[in-house]
Amino acid sequence: MTGNTTHAQEQDRQNLIGGARSHGRPVVALLTDTNLAVAQARNAARPDNLRVPTAAVEQQHSLLTAALPTLADEVDAVVHARDLPVLACSLLRLAEEDGDHEDLAEVRRVFGQAASLFEWNPADGGHRTRTFAAGGQEISVRWVDDGDPFDARFEARVPCATTPGCPGAAWTVVHSTADLARAHTGMPVDEVMCDCCDS
Ligand SMILES: [Zn+2]
Repeated sequence: MTGNTTHAQEQDRQNLIGGARSHGRPVVALLTDTNLAVAQARNAARPDNLRVPTAAVEQQHSLLTAALPTLADEVDAVVHARDLPVLACSLLRLAEEDGDHEDLAEVRRVFGQAASLFEWNPADGGHRTRTFAAGGQEISVRWVDDGDPFDARFEARVPCATTPGCPGAAWTVVHSTADLARAHTGMPVDEVMCDCCDS
């Protein structure tokens, strides 16, 4: 059984939760705590036949906000949408779909459709860096070109592997979306070099 924002009212939630419990099923609340301004903007951008009155969005938002402090008592688990492994899933899915984008620019050549997850960052230490982002998670990638055309490469930012708690930026070479997914999930293919510890 699946509820949605129409279960913002506690009474409606209790009916759904009671139904699940009577069948001995666990109840999980998946929380997308979008702020009101974003929710209103998304509603405003919907087609005429799907858009709801702004007052309705406001009311749902205030009901859900009021429910948050005690939601954990109503259900077996509360999961924040931002904590779902959305980025890893996106990268893995894109890695599978990859392979037929050889003719495009360097980013697209290396990362295929995952290039659509890219955002430019401000200049960072002389390297061009970009961020892959999805679902509130992100991984930074930089283009390293020291003038040797055979050594130009993408590197993904990962935690330092040398010193526990090191605040330094550490990087690992990535050649594909699959490498990027491995780096994001803590299993980099290549060695990790830390700007602080390994230079
Ligand atoms: Zn380090």
